[in-house]
Amino acid sequence: MIYPIVVYGSPVLRNENKDIGRDYPEVGKLVEDMFETMYAADGVGLAAPQIGKNIRVFVVDISPWGDSEPELVGFRKAFINPDIYWRSDDETLFCEGCLSLPNLNEDVSRPSTIRMRWLDENFAEHDAEFDGRAARVIQHEYDHLEGILFSDKLSPLRRTLIKGKLTNFAKGKYSASYRTK
Ligand code: ZN
Repeated sequence: MIYPIVVYGSPVLRNENKDIGRDYPEVGKLVEDMFETMYAADGVGLAAPQIGKNIRVFVVDISPWGDSEPELVGFRKAFINPDIYWRSDDETLFCEGCLSLPNLNEDVSRPSTIRMRWLDENFAEHDAEFDGRAARVIQHEYDHLEGILFSDKLSPLRRTLIKGKLTNFAKGKYSASYRTK
């Protein structure tokens, strides 16, 4: 099932997101629907609030970038109740986009390396270090679970320059190649 994607301006993207337990209904189905929704929109990551659910779940598939970073071959994962418990001091600049901010791309600075604990869709525990593009996409999606959008992280100057676009998102004045709400 493909969900419509929630666009900037909706309170759903700013709400608190709750951890889920093993009793959460049909987690496997939710995760598959999130992948399907993400692929339909040509995204590399999608967080639950972007489909209107305020829970701490996101999915990432950066396997298409495996051509340039061999360790990304087959990198398709679901992250449940994640906790980034370490971030490197050094940061990297990377041009980001977001399905909730259609057709907006801006350079964002983030820690180059992170360490994170999480559960997969079978509630198995994981603990790993990520760098490169994996760290980039994971931190972007993790921010969604904290109610943070990449536009929040821009310099005051850049934010001023895109203010009109953000206002238009909130007013529904934008175009997207996928279903939104
Ligand atoms: Zn996003």
